[in-house]
Amino acid sequence: MTLQLKISNTLSGKKETFKPLEDGKIGIYACGVTVYDKCHIGHAMQAILFDVIVRYLTLTGYDVTYVRNYTDVDDKIINRAFELGITPLELSSKMIKSSEDDLNALRIKPATHQPKVSDFISEIIAFIQDLMDKGFAYATLDGDVYYRVRKKDDYGKLSNQNPDALRSNVRVDGDNNKEDSLDFALWKSETKEGAFWSSPFGDGRPGWHIECSAMALQFLGYNFDIHGGGRDLVFPHHENEIAQSEARSGCNYANYWIHTGLLTVEKKKMSKSVGNFLTIEDALKLYDFELIRWNVYQNHYSSNLDFNEKTFGIGLKKLYYFYRTLSSLNKLLDENTRYDEKLLEGFHPQSIRENFDLAMHDDFNIPKAMVSINEAFGAINEIIELKGVKQKLKLFTLKKYKEVLQPVLEVLELCQRSSNEFFKEIHNRYFDKLDLSLEMINDLLTKRLEARVNKDYEESDKLRNELESFGISVMDTPKGQVWELSEVGLQKLVQTN
Ligand SMILES: [Zn+2]
Repeated sequence: MTLQLKISNTLSGKKETFKPLEDGKIGIYACGVTVYDKCHIGHAMQAILFDVIVRYLTLTGYDVTYVRNYTDVDDKIINRAFELGITPLELSSKMIKSSEDDLNALRIKPATHQPKVSDFISEIIAFIQDLMDKGFAYATLDGDVYYRVRKKDDYGKLSNQNPDALRSNVRVDGDNNKEDSLDFALWKSETKEGAFWSSPFGDGRPGWHIECSAMALQFLGYNFDIHGGGRDLVFPHHENEIAQSEARSGCNYANYWIHTGLLTVEKKKMSKSVGNFLTIEDALKLYDFELIRWNVYQNHYSSNLDFNEKTFGIGLKKLYYFYRTLSSLNKLLDENTRYDEKLLEGFHPQSIRENFDLAMHDDFNIPKAMVSINEAFGAINEIIELKGVKQKLKLFTLKKYKEVLQPVLEVLELCQRSSNEFFKEIHNRYFDKLDLSLEMINDLLTKRLEARVNKDYEESDKLRNELESFGISVMDTPKGQVWELSEVGLQKLVQTN
C-alpha cells in the first residue's frame, strides 16, 4: 500500500490528501525574516520545521523547490538604520549575514532560492502596475498605492473572516485617502535617502505583502503547491498575498497553506521587556544546536512550543543516550565484519522506517516520528545486551537497524556527528559552565584507578563519590574505568540560573 501524504491546510481548515501540481515535484514558499535585528529562537523554530519538511519530502523522492525570502525593505529596517547612521541596505545585508550564520549553526540547509526584496523592485513595480491596470489598485494624491479589497469577493478566505466584520474591527490608521479601511499599501511614498526607488507612482518603496507575491511568482509561478509561515502571518500578511496574487493571475495562489505554532519561553511570550528574549546566537551559547532541534521536535509543528529548562534536561539526557548507543553500536560493527544474513527473531528494523513514514505522511507528525526513533535505540541496546544468541545474528540485526536509522536521523539532523565529537562538545560546555578543569577531574580519575589497583576500595569509593559530586559518573568495565556525565550533571548543564 502506498502512503498518501496528508496536510492540514489552513485554507480549507481540513486535513487533505496532498496532490502536487506536477508529479514528483513540489514548490514551497515560506516567509522569511525581516532583517532589522538578530534572529530569535522563534525564527529558529520555524526554519527548523521547514528544513525537516523539505528534507523529508526530498527523502520520499520529490524534487523540491524551496523559496525562503529575506525582507530587507521595511520601516523597522529604515528606522534602525537611521539611528545607527548607516543605510537601510547596509544594515539589512549585515543582518542577513548574521541570520545565515545562525541558520548554519543550527545545521539548517539553505533554501533552493533565498531572494531579497531589494533585488526584485522592478518585478514588484510591474506587479503593482498590473493590479492598477486591472482596477485592483489605486494611487492616492500622496503617492501611495493601495490594494482595493472590495473588488475581490473572497477576501478573508484564508483567515476565515468576513470583510464587513473586519471593517468594524480595523484600526483607523488616519489615512483618509484610502477608499476603504481594509485597503492595504502596495507602494509607500518615501523620500529618505537610501530608502526609496523610482516608480511610475512616484519615489517610494514596496509595502510588505506585495514582496512575497512577487518573489513567489518569480520562482514558483502564479499557482504553486505549498505556502508556509508562522501562524501570526495568516492575517493580514498571507490573506493579502492571496488577494494580490489571485487578482493579478485569475487563478489560485498556493494550494496548501501550512502554519507553524508560536514559541514561548518558560510559558511566557518572548519579549525584551520581560527579559526572556532569546536570540539564536544566545541560545546556542546556552544549548547545543542539536538540543535546540530536539526541543522543536517535541510538539506538532502547528502547536505552540515552549522553551524550558525541564524539556532541555530531558532532551540532553536523550541525546547523550543516543550517542552512547551509537558509540557502542559502531564499536561492535567496526570490530566484527562477519555476519549471518538473517535477523534475530522478534526484531523488525524495517518497521522503524515504516512507522516513521506513517507519522511523517500524517501531516508531518514529527513527535510521533520521534517515537519510532526512540524504539530503534531501545531495540539496539536490547540487542547489544542480549545473551545466549549467535553473535553473527546480533551483528546483522544491528547493522540493519543502523541502515534504517541513518536516513531518518538525517532528515532530523540528529546524531550526524561522531559520538566523540558530540561528547567532546558537551563535556567542554560542562567544564566551562561549571568552571571545572578537565585536569582536576583526570587527576581524581587516576587516583581512583591507583586505589583500585592497590585494592584500597575505601579510598576508591571515596573518590567515586567525590567525582559524583562534580556530576561525573564512573563505571568499571572489562575494558577499564570509563566516565560520563551523571543525570545531575546533565541537568546542571541546561540550568539557566
Ligand atoms: Zn511573506
